[in-house]
Amino acid sequence: MRRVTILGATGSIGQNTLDLIRRAPKGHYQVVALTGGRNIAQLAADAREFGAALAVTAHDDLLAPLRAALAGSRVEAAAGEAALIDAAQRPADWTMSAIVGVAGLAPGLAALENGGTLALANKESLVTAGPLMMAQARATGARILPVDSEHSAIFQALMGEDITAARRVIITASGGAFRDWPLAQMQTATVAQASAHPNWEMGQRITIDSASMFNKALEVIEAKEFFGFSPDQIEVVVHPQSIVHALVGFCDGGLMAHVGPPDMRHAIGYALNWPERRALPVEAIDLPTIGRLDFTAPDPARYPALPLAWQVMDAGGLTGAVFNAAKERALDHFIAGDVGFMAMADLVKDALDGLAGHPDITTSEITLERVRAVDHLTRQHIDTQA
Ligand code: NDP
Ligand code: MG
Repeated sequence: MRRVTILGATGSIGQNTLDLIRRAPKGHYQVVALTGGRNIAQLAADAREFGAALAVTAHDDLLAPLRAALAGSRVEAAAGEAALIDAAQRPADWTMSAIVGVAGLAPGLAALENGGTLALANKESLVTAGPLMMAQARATGARILPVDSEHSAIFQALMGEDITAARRVIITASGGAFRDWPLAQMQTATVAQASAHPNWEMGQRITIDSASMFNKALEVIEAKEFFGFSPDQIEVVVHPQSIVHALVGFCDGGLMAHVGPPDMRHAIGYALNWPERRALPVEAIDLPTIGRLDFTAPDPARYPALPLAWQVMDAGGLTGAVFNAAKERALDHFIAGDVGFMAMADLVKDALDGLAGHPDITTSEITLERVRAVDHLTRQHIDTQA
């Protein structure tokens, strides 16, 4: 019996993870804790179905509704940030980190204290505090496995290889919702248009981040933090078919590509079953139907968010925390209708430039408290500009 916890269980990644657990033979998994945010009905239904010991909503004001929804069950209900940390700390063999945003950092760090396996979908933890996450894993013997499809692809392409022989990593991008739109039209893109992804079913925030390529910028930084690639070894190509997720290039000129279905259950299942491979409920890729694979260089005029990743990596320190907070807040303003789609990158660049050199940011000592302080400072900066 494997003890599993899912942080962000009510979201897109969380639901896909539960789908895989639901299909496993009875008694294979024991669900320790499930956490969610505002979707109390889903959280309670899943906690009951999987017999979770604990269900936690991130929001204090939703404790009463959660309790009511769990009445008559044996599931313990709790709410708030401390309860999220408690859920993450309960002994589990495998924890899925799938809260969206920097809110996933503290619970992910807490889960690492267990020394179990952390399946990491929450890329924001590595972008804001990569060295801290990695040091925590080393200290406790915990293992972090990638769930982001590109990083799962890199991980799989490196299996059986010597990472010191790797010279480059190429991450693919679908191009998002606007890949075929003229630039002028992108300026006027609405929230609804940016929330429709051509190839992937994902939460709204990451879907909009795919259209702007902020998501790809986060993933570039994630690749540096996870695998230790240097910024100049990381490349991005637009690949509209979304079946090659990443390629690793070696010193002998060979490239190992990972080809997988555009279904997150592949990457989630790989992290769930690792080091084994097991059958997964994903559609087989039919190459003649796909017909061709295209790769083009991303146009920085269409995707101004992407080059910011290298500015962030070159600056170091807590610049990743600035970048992520600025991006999260700019996205809030776009969703609220305060700023246009293309203005998000301008806002974020302005925050990176405006806060560069700030002593709280240039520090090499990365702690949760410092990330929080920088996150707060950056959000304030964005709010004054938006
Ligand atoms: P969703 O928006 O679908 O789900 C987010 C989850 O986090 C929900 O359970 C939500 O609860 C919960 N949540 C939201 N805000 C908070 C908060 N402040 N505190 C605690 N919990 C909160 O996101 P996704 O599943 O799409 O993405 C999750 C993570 O995985 C992100 O980091 C994303 O970048 C990453 N990822 C996602 C991929 C995908 O295919 N979706 C692919 C690769 C990476 P509720 O809904 O109940 O409010
Ligand atoms: Mg990805």
